[in-house]
Amino acid sequence: MTATKSAVVTGANKGIGREVARRLAADGFKVWLGARDGERGTKAATELRAEGLDVQWLEIDVTKEETVAKAASTIGSVSSHLDVLVNNAGVAINYDRPPSEQAMADIKATYEVNVFGPIRVTQAFLPLLLAAPAARVVMVSSYGGSIGRALDRASPSYSLNMLGYGSSKAALNAIMVCFAKELAPRRILVNAAAPGYTATDLNQHKGHRTVQQAAEIVVRLATLGADGPTGGYFDEKGPVPW
Ligand code: NAP
Repeated sequence: MTATKSAVVTGANKGIGREVARRLAADGFKVWLGARDGERGTKAATELRAEGLDVQWLEIDVTKEETVAKAASTIGSVSSHLDVLVNNAGVAINYDRPPSEQAMADIKATYEVNVFGPIRVTQAFLPLLLAAPAARVVMVSSYGGSIGRALDRASPSYSLNMLGYGSSKAALNAIMVCFAKELAPRRILVNAAAPGYTATDLNQHKGHRTVQQAAEIVVRLATLGADGPTGGYFDEKGPVPW
């Protein structure tokens, strides 16, 4: 059993999740780098360890009940609790097709990762989070989940019309609020982060922000003090319209 704070970041073998894992480890966390693929996960963890960081690969496919349960029991076997959970794993399958042309199979596959994944992972880790003095849960959402921005002609989100991806992140925001309300009396703060349009594999590196910029709000919400918000949806400048 250890006094070092611990964090799980899902989908952390690359992109924003990898940078969040790096930042949390640099802040002194023991980081469990969640990845569904052993080769990609160990490679990322090894690279971060080479920077002197305490990072270990943890197998998690957020769509697979058994890997999620096993991941929670792995941590439970070496630690009494978990301080931070970052639900970062996400997909955006054919996200830019017009709504009328989006394949139901693509929408379902998107929801499996972006909606059911964070529910599954949060529920599985909840006993460990509840055992921490003051745990934090971050849902990595998106501006795409903002209905307010989608309806605002002045917003860059207005011209996007991402049926599967956008609605999955709106659902994730609603899920975040449900967990936040239930867990507030247990000192767990649960919030959603909008990292902004970031150059990663998710969008074939078309995003204009860096993973360092994107990780900022995620890390901030993962390390909130006791007086921090819960049930909110934020970018680094403040609340994002629902
Ligand atoms: P990315 O580079 O494509 O990384 C996505 C990560 O999720 C990868 O590690 C991927 O693993 C993992 N993943 C996918 N399916 C998974 C599954 N079933 N189980 C576990 N892990 C899985 O994309 P990113 O841009 O960093 O995205 C990270 C998060 O930020 C996502 O939730 C995304 O929606 C959100 N976001 C991104 C942007 C942006 O502009 N990039 C904007 C707003 C929000 P594999 O390598 O094995 O596929």
